[in-house]
Amino acid sequence: MFDIVVIGERCKECGMCINVCPKKILERGEKTNSRGFYVTYSPKPEECVGCRLCEYVCPDFALFIRPSSSPTYILVQR
Ligand code: SF4
Ligand code: SF4
Repeated sequence: MFDIVVIGERCKECGMCINVCPKKILERGEKTNSRGFYVTYSPKPEECVGCRLCEYVCPDFALFIRPSSSPTYILVQR
């Protein structure tokens, strides 16, 4: 069980994490950051298998996976 943590200000909406996720649980969100990019979002974090492919491919270190007792999506705005 894993948390999907996205640092919103770092995301540039490139979609690499969305394309690589084997579970297809990442998508373009509806919230924009200060640069106008729609920040990646997960509507189904409970389906994450923790492979961390999304974390590895993100060129801006905007997305992290961490162990969790109750899986959730966390948007960090800074
Ligand atoms: S860790 Fe794997 S399954 Fe979970 S969101 Fe990232 S790519 Fe998808
Ligand atoms: S790979 Fe990183 S920068 Fe690209 S959409 Fe995903 S979180 Fe945003």
